[in-house]
Amino acid sequence: MKIDVDESVSSSATMTDLDNWYSIKLQLNPPLLFPVSGEYMSNFGYVAPTTVEETLAVLQRATDQGQRTQILAGGTDVIVQFRSLDSSHRLFVDIKSLKETNDVRIDKEHIFVGAAIASGVLNENAELKALFPGLLEAADLIGSTQIQGRASIGGNLCNSSPAGDTIPALIVNSALCVIATNEGTRTVPTENFVTGVGRNCLAAHEFLLGFQIPRPSAGTGDAYLRFIPRTEMDIAVAGAAVSLTINQDGICERARVSIGAVAPTPLLVSSAAETLVGTTADEDALQQAAQACSDAAQPITDKRGTVEYRRKVVGVLCRRAGAIARDRALSNRN
Ligand SMILES: Cc1cc2nc3c(=O)[nH]c(=O)nc-3n(C[C@H](O)[C@H](O)[C@H](O)COP(=O)(O)OP(=O)(O)OC[C@H]3O[C@@H](n4cnc5c(N)ncnc54)[C@H](O)[C@@H]3O)c2cc1C
Repeated sequence: MKIDVDESVSSSATMTDLDNWYSIKLQLNPPLLFPVSGEYMSNFGYVAPTTVEETLAVLQRATDQGQRTQILAGGTDVIVQFRSLDSSHRLFVDIKSLKETNDVRIDKEHIFVGAAIASGVLNENAELKALFPGLLEAADLIGSTQIQGRASIGGNLCNSSPAGDTIPALIVNSALCVIATNEGTRTVPTENFVTGVGRNCLAAHEFLLGFQIPRPSAGTGDAYLRFIPRTEMDIAVAGAAVSLTINQDGICERARVSIGAVAPTPLLVSSAAETLVGTTADEDALQQAAQACSDAAQPITDKRGTVEYRRKVVGVLCRRAGAIARDRALSNRN
């Protein structure tokens, strides 16, 4: 059954079509038989719209009816959380098959990366890897090979964990979040997207389409490093991303520094960037940037590290990521 969602939004006659479509999808979906605290995970609805307009219509309709919705991308956070933390009823809205959330467009001025692309797929894109090695390295740190077959960078951002690995790397690359709304799209700089632990600026009837990232100018390089107590499959104790642009005279003209896992939200640290601009990004300048990151951090003490430890580690990571970004920037000059 095909419905014209534009019409369905504006007329009650076709809204019935949407209702039918909605319930048919729900009936077709068999309950999953995974135990949730001794029960079964059938406490949900599932729809997989095929266009942005359908998705927005489903979200709006459910919101108007007071129904809880949750966007589903790779599910590597959602399903784990639904099974173990909060299994209250909701409608999952799967955005994995939308054209827009799977798009990669590399234009003269901007690059668009769809929100639902699995990190394993992103990392096979040689052109993206050459443009944003730090961002793709961050995506490559998520979980394991199996997790990367599903986990998206859109999901990593929208999960809005302070320790989401790709968020600082998106921030230093000045990525704009492109959000689908009933009025079209709106954009939000990544550093303003996450508003608290597990919270972000999306309204219930909106979703993230992808990221618009300016094409890096000549002499730009980025890097991301995190520290975990194990070699993989752990949450960052601290993370730092740096992007630098270095001119033909070897002077840093532009810098962005972001830190993760050391505050309720990933932070853009302008004070660290300021210590680098106008220098050759040498060890002294990087040390000052490191100190600015340690000062900007607002960490907590938990089983992974104390406040003092995290402050120290985030500075070390900034210095090391800064040196990698500088070397990449130097080798990217025309
Ligand atoms: C074993 C394991 C290891 C992990 N290791 C790491 C790690 O090393 N580093 C790390 O950062 N994370 C890690 N994670 C967490 C997780 O894999 C990542 O956060 C992943 O990027 C989430 O992407 P996803 O596509 O699976 O998102 P989902 O689970 O589908 O969604 C995550 C959240 O974002 C929302 N959402 C997703 N897409 C959109 C969208 N387009 N618009 C609006 N809302 C959206 C969902 O509603 C949900 O709230 C790990 C998880 C597991 C299970």
